[in-house]
Amino acid sequence: MDFNKRNKYNLRCSFCGRDKTEALILVAGIDAHICEVCVEQAQDIIDDELGKKQLSQGEFDIPVALTPKEIKVHLDKYVIGQDESKKYLSVAVHNHYKRLAQEKDDDDIEIEKSNVLLVGRTGTGKTLLAKTIAKFLNVPFAIVDATVFTEAGYVGEDVESIFSRLLQVCDYNVELAERGIVYIDEIDKIARKQDNPSITRDVSGEGVQQAMLKMLEGTEVHVPPQGGRKHPEQKLVKVNTSNILFICGGAFDGVEKIIARRVNTHVIGFKGADDEEEIDRDNLLQYITQRDIKSFGLIPELIGRLPVLTYLEPLDYAALKRILTEPKNALLKQYKKLFKLEGIELKFTDEAIEYVAEKAIEFNLGARGLRSICEAIMTDAMFELPGQKKIKELIVDRDYAEGKLNKSKLTKLKAA
Ligand code: ADP
Repeated sequence: MDFNKRNKYNLRCSFCGRDKTEALILVAGIDAHICEVCVEQAQDIIDDELGKKQLSQGEFDIPVALTPKEIKVHLDKYVIGQDESKKYLSVAVHNHYKRLAQEKDDDDIEIEKSNVLLVGRTGTGKTLLAKTIAKFLNVPFAIVDATVFTEAGYVGEDVESIFSRLLQVCDYNVELAERGIVYIDEIDKIARKQDNPSITRDVSGEGVQQAMLKMLEGTEVHVPPQGGRKHPEQKLVKVNTSNILFICGGAFDGVEKIIARRVNTHVIGFKGADDEEEIDRDNLLQYITQRDIKSFGLIPELIGRLPVLTYLEPLDYAALKRILTEPKNALLKQYKKLFKLEGIELKFTDEAIEYVAEKAIEFNLGARGLRSICEAIMTDAMFELPGQKKIKELIVDRDYAEGKLNKSKLTKLKAA
């Protein structure tokens, strides 16, 4: 018998075979029918697949109870220095989650989102700050690099793919993703190029900024679950970005010139020559304002969506030394643990630590250099010692560190 025959006496659900008389509703398709029970089951499968399955109440933990001070205390455990940025970021994050938790009341005062812009040289801890805060708050977190985005139609990724990573980390739970934090690195690289050779299109220029603007503000985006480019046959996941906190970071290389121009005009125009001495000309980045960022090439509307602007200090010798030893998962603590797992006690003398910090300054890579320097020093020992039983202790002093580093290719960095 034909299962789906259009005969009012034997219409059946094409999925479970239930007869029309047993089903409450039988929805007709072109060549098939589906009953209300199967529709519900199908919905469950879809929800499961897209991670939309409702979590039971209480599993959404809006971290509103954490005060800015508590957030900063936590950041202090992982990030050395950068007090100013920590303070700004803690307040912004606290306010953000307070905003999410607020009940709708009738005073019509709407708290706006406090997206953050972190400005600082490479390797000063911008990503680390964002990552540490997200981990502490236990919210989904994704790092994306602004340089991969291009306008629709060009080779590269759609801006929407930012949220693919966020969805991936929380197993496609859309509700969780909608309360997450996104760190957009190298935001300065999408600045409008003053010397763009083409006037008709600006790949990775203003168009990308426009697309990003809407997301920062809060909108519904259709996200390709696997990232990359959207294509017509793909299933897209709808994500509302209104409650996602965006932290953007950038080094804004070259903005110093803009700041210098502004500061000079200011000094000459309004204040006496005496004031000039107060300006730290070696570190002009600290005076950065929204206006400088606009002159650098970000559109004012985008800057407006990043109301919290804060600056990260370059890391000096003392800070680099502390970074090696103090944070909860400091580099040297990690090496010690690795050796301990082999039954070897690893010790670094103060002089060795000073040597590593000196070299990191020399290589001018911020804290990023520390890791490669330490690897160059430790690799031989990490290769030789595991598996042998005799050596129970390794002391890394300045001579040892210097010997290993000089032998490595890393010293070429100096010339770079
Ligand atoms: P960027 O400012 O370029 O985003 P990162 O946050 O990625 O720099 O820093 C690179 C690495 O250097 C981090 O993983 C961390 O180990 C270390 N680091 C950088 N700044 C700090 C800091 N202020 N305190 C502790 N570690 C730091």
